[in-house]
Amino acid sequence: MSGENLVSVRSLHRRYGNLHAVKGVSFDLGRGEVLGLLGPNGAGKTTTMQMLCGALAPSAGEILIDGESLLESPRSTKRKIGYLPERPPLYPELSVDEYLRFCARLRRVEAADISAAMKRVKTRCGLDGVGRRLIANLSKGYQQRVGIAQAVIHGPQVVVLDEPTAGLDPNQIREIRDLIRELGEEHGVVLSTHILPEVQALCQRVQILCQGEIVLNERLDTLNQSSRSLRAAFRRPPDAAELGSIAGVSRVEAIDEQRFRLFHDPDGNVAGMLTERSVEERWGLFELIPDQRALEEIFVAITSGEGVQPPVTPSEGPSE
Ligand code: ATP
Repeated sequence: MSGENLVSVRSLHRRYGNLHAVKGVSFDLGRGEVLGLLGPNGAGKTTTMQMLCGALAPSAGEILIDGESLLESPRSTKRKIGYLPERPPLYPELSVDEYLRFCARLRRVEAADISAAMKRVKTRCGLDGVGRRLIANLSKGYQQRVGIAQAVIHGPQVVVLDEPTAGLDPNQIREIRDLIRELGEEHGVVLSTHILPEVQALCQRVQILCQGEIVLNERLDTLNQSSRSLRAAFRRPPDAAELGSIAGVSRVEAIDEQRFRLFHDPDGNVAGMLTERSVEERWGLFELIPDQRALEEIFVAITSGEGVQPPVTPSEGPSE
């Protein structure tokens, strides 16, 4: 769960010439919170993250990291932030140890503390045993770990990761996700991704950016509760019409002979009633899963430009 507030972003704008790429973005991030930043290509995610890390000056707005203004005290505030850009800033001709030592010095880790900091991040990022290997010879997943290690070498409170699992194979994705989950326990993490299940798996909160504006800012558990369909499977399936007669069920869709999707009223207790009915009628219910399609549906609805309203409205925190 989130604790103290680590990041406060207020009315952030960025213009590139005539292009207004980020238009009044505001959000908060607490310690122990992983925030997923989603949006179609060109929505302004990277621009927002670069401003959050002090790598790009905003045209207007305020960024407070742990209560300190990034714009007024950039040097001390940047120490509290770690950043993994979309393309990790690795030097392939260096060994992992040489590179991490270099990053620690860049980040002004005290000389006497550098070895301990390197040991800590290597253990944390699963890099024990590869310190002497050249970065060029590491797999992409290991290179990504090195990228994350450089982002946390100075012990920042806030870690900003731009598409950290892009281009990795499923095993590597799983490892990097485990690492992000661990980072999220102690730090505040902002994560940008195009992979919606990644947000479902890692984040407590999701924000969707579209054409430079936040169009959704919601806790994941609230979104999941707003899922309005259930998948149910039966050994002795009833007629769809019988399922449709359960109070609160608005529509039934057959997936195959045993499986159905039940669309329902979000406030009712359809799962409970379905379970009771199945026991009474001996339908042999063996699977009952709330659909996790909510996020994908919402994303498509708000970003496709079709004017479809999402099932939940932006809330919790100003978006302008
Ligand atoms: P993606 O998912 O494709 O990485 P994004 O959401 O990260 O996209 P940004 O990279 O922040 O989006 O870009 C937002 C808009 O600003 C885009 O229209 C992009 O072309 C434009 N843009 C980004 N950087 C610059 C720049 N340095 N100069 C001019 N325009 C830029």
